[in-house]
Amino acid sequence: MSKHSLSQRARELREQLNEHNYRYYILNDPAISDREYDALWDELVGIEREHPELDEPDSPTHRVSSDLTTAFPTVTHVRPMLSLSNTYSAEEVHEFDRRVRERLGEEPYRYVCELKIDGVAVSLIYQDGVLRTGATRGNGEQGDDITANIRTIRSIPLRARQVEYHHRRISSFEVRGEVYMAKSDFEAMNAERELAGEKIFANPRNSTAGTLKMLDPKIVARRPLATFLYYLEADDVQLESHAENLKLLHDLGFPTNPHRRICTSAEEVVAFCTEWEEKRDTLPYEIDGVVVKVDSLRQQEKLGTISRSPRWAIAVKFEARTAQTLLNGITLQVGRLGTVTPVAELTPVFLAGSTISRATLHNADFIAERDIRVGDTVLIEKGGDVIPKVNEVVMSLRPGDAEPFEFPTTCPCPLHTRLHRPEGEANYYCEHAECPWQIRGRIQHFASRAALDIEGLGEKVVDQLVTLGWLGNYADIYDLHNHRDELAALERWGEKSADNLLAGIEASKERPYGRVLFGLGIRHVGATVAKTLAQEFHTIELLLNASVEELTAVNEIGPRIAESVVRFFSDSGNRDLIERLRTAGLTMHGPEKPKVRDGDSPFSGKTFVLTGTLPSYTREEASALIEERGGKVSASVSKKTSYVLAGADAGSKLAKAETLGVAVIDEETFRGMLEAADGV
Ligand code: NAD
Repeated sequence: MSKHSLSQRARELREQLNEHNYRYYILNDPAISDREYDALWDELVGIEREHPELDEPDSPTHRVSSDLTTAFPTVTHVRPMLSLSNTYSAEEVHEFDRRVRERLGEEPYRYVCELKIDGVAVSLIYQDGVLRTGATRGNGEQGDDITANIRTIRSIPLRARQVEYHHRRISSFEVRGEVYMAKSDFEAMNAERELAGEKIFANPRNSTAGTLKMLDPKIVARRPLATFLYYLEADDVQLESHAENLKLLHDLGFPTNPHRRICTSAEEVVAFCTEWEEKRDTLPYEIDGVVVKVDSLRQQEKLGTISRSPRWAIAVKFEARTAQTLLNGITLQVGRLGTVTPVAELTPVFLAGSTISRATLHNADFIAERDIRVGDTVLIEKGGDVIPKVNEVVMSLRPGDAEPFEFPTTCPCPLHTRLHRPEGEANYYCEHAECPWQIRGRIQHFASRAALDIEGLGEKVVDQLVTLGWLGNYADIYDLHNHRDELAALERWGEKSADNLLAGIEASKERPYGRVLFGLGIRHVGATVAKTLAQEFHTIELLLNASVEELTAVNEIGPRIAESVVRFFSDSGNRDLIERLRTAGLTMHGPEKPKVRDGDSPFSGKTFVLTGTLPSYTREEASALIEERGGKVSASVSKKTSYVLAGADAGSKLAKAETLGVAVIDEETFRGMLEAADGV
């Protein structure tokens, strides 16, 4: 690949990873499997490693992906909560072991292998034995303060038991662990939600993350959350080993996972992983791998950390699971943008906790490359338990009369429009604006959790209302109240369901402007781009009238997105829809952004890294001040960093800045820069 296309690819990968992070960590609604996410990640890491000049300080590979929200107060972690490096292979476990051995010199060492619980990490602070704070991992440095929700989890003690270690009482300490939902509790909860017409969660991890971020602890208390703790750091008591800590956690009254093993070689580690990969379905909760940690805390410290993960631990992830079944037919699905996706209709098969009868076949090339034919026996895969897909054909079981698949030439909708495949593209498209399948897709997208999040307006309900002719576009949703009595009279509906749906629609008017922009379904405008647009063009009028040049002047907006936005808003039909949404009372503006002074601001185009505690600003406040004036905030220091803003107790970032010769400023200088930027 040429340098130009590599740089383009890196940009695309960053865009995609940011988008998937947002869906996974903030919306709890991932669109791809973990395996696919990890493949994109590895590709970007590869490019950045081979071509350091294409690396960017704000690349997602340099920081812990953030699940911070503005709904909760922010707490700064006493010690950063890091991520873990991942591997899927035995060779990489050996490689990890080799690096540990080299770094520890001649010292003997051992590992503790634990199950990797597929839940959400939390940090709990106890003072004098009493639970004071519970927080999420957030961006690794700061988390959301979810103490009220944590208190509702019955297995978390509000007061720890009394325990001594080497004659000292462990009374003020931090513990960390994973909050999760057992598989059976998750299924029961989803079944209830489905009955009530509410959206169902994709997997137990998503429902746990969604629950922990709920604003009403009373609802959290009704959800079946459980926890395993795996980390302890005590004030005033010098602890020595991870294995001992797990035992201390148990003695303090915390639930710990019983399935763990001390291993003294890479072979033993691999054996533990293989054993649990086979036995994972026997557990009542989901695990997605094994975490391997060097046992001695002194050695952990000696090994240290690299930007986003410790050098003394690794997560060995399990391969996605596959099952074999029959492909009975291939049907077409038409998405909101007219993209036609072939879908495998399968003999139902049980895989990784659910029954699968349909799986994606992506596009015509995918089918042709694998020569997938109706009547074939196929292997299907479920990675990260999200969207199942057909992986390969078992050729030895192919029936003699199976014919190669011919991609249909017309749209499956009643209009039967001729499908179009643009030069060089893998997808076929239906280009008829009135295609009822596209209309359905657009309304489903608008109502989805990531967009307007309309409770009660799931895919099946949209289908029904489009068929009834009550919904022809997403603005019609806000006229549904005119059909209230007819709705209530529909089979399996009733007064309560009708009123719940109307209440869900009413509540969607409160969604922020960025979510509305995302819901409009503009091609190439994903959730993060929509958020950026909302910040940069803080009223819909500004956006309606923005030119390609004005749009591309925004950092993250390239020409492809800009042209798509301009094309969308120049369509009079789309303008009418927006006018109707505005009249219905949807949020069409965001918080006002102070005007950045062109070029002369000491912040514009500059990248800042924050470290330590500032006397008068929280990290969030300082970041907002920088970004409002055209600067960028990054989590890690590199040659491209313009300034490191350092407060008290600054750590390794300060040291790195000094080594790289990056300018270090204190709060006083920072204030001076703010005054200069604001002209005061
Ligand atoms: P991770 O989940 O791979 O590993 C770190 C986490 O493991 C810790 O934060 C902790 O919560 C958890 N953990 C569970 N059991 C543990 C134990 N016994 N000891 C220590 N930690 C334990 O890392 P991450 O940074 O949270 O997430 C990155 C991964 O998330 C990616 O590799 C990808 O698989 C997935 N992801 C998927 C998508 C998607 O769209 N599908 C998007 C973003 C991230």
